[in-house]
Amino acid sequence: MTAPVWPDGARAACAFTFDLDADTLWMARGISEPVTLSQGRFGVLEGLPRILELLGRAAIRSSFFVPAWVVERYPEAVASIVAGGHEVGAHGDVHERVSDLDPAQEEKILVRSVEVVTRHTGRRPRGYRAPAWQISERTIALLARHGFDYSSNMMDRLTPYLHPEVDGRRLVEVPVSWVLDDAPFFLFTGQRSIQPPGPVLDGWLEEFDGISETGGVATFTFHPQIIGRPSRLACLRRLVERARRTPGVWIARLDEISDHWRTRV
Ligand SMILES: [Zn+2]
Repeated sequence: MTAPVWPDGARAACAFTFDLDADTLWMARGISEPVTLSQGRFGVLEGLPRILELLGRAAIRSSFFVPAWVVERYPEAVASIVAGGHEVGAHGDVHERVSDLDPAQEEKILVRSVEVVTRHTGRRPRGYRAPAWQISERTIALLARHGFDYSSNMMDRLTPYLHPEVDGRRLVEVPVSWVLDDAPFFLFTGQRSIQPPGPVLDGWLEEFDGISETGGVATFTFHPQIIGRPSRLACLRRLVERARRTPGVWIARLDEISDHWRTRV
């Protein structure tokens, strides 16, 4: 029998992660119309407190990725995330598309996001998730040079892995997937219909079970303004229950997963 790759004999890992984009999800699309922007605010005002309560009751600690603009606009929300024992990672400034930035802009925004998150949480962000998961060909090296521990952007594996070394540092990748994201199913931009939650939940449960079978990590990526609606919070509750009841699944923050993966290889 091969030794388990996860702590305490666990056979697989699961991470519930949340991107608190708030208004910037829409601002990045050039939108300034108040009603559309108010959907972003829903995530902060209504979604986030319920998500934190749900996680707290389940004793789950999560990773939140928050753009610098959001951190400065909603400092109490960020304080409540930290108070819940969760991690805050970097997620751009105003949800700009990193692949569109020139090298100087990309580095400037990264430096600002580190500074803002550090100032408001008391802790330097250890992880980076690009807005909309779009990095440039420079991003991974830039993250290594700025002392990050992990990236959670790539979609090429079911298990974490190490990126090539840059200046003596190797970033851990904790991979993601659009399949485990709420936006492709529920984000309404006026161009397609909203999916009913039941079939989406069934798909997520199947994906979770399948990843657990392979010994990988199920990295769920949710947005408080999307998953925070009551019908979808019910999905989150069911997922949390499934993850907690499945034997041998380690539920952790991404920084914990990154630390573990770094020591085992
Ligand atoms: Zn985002």
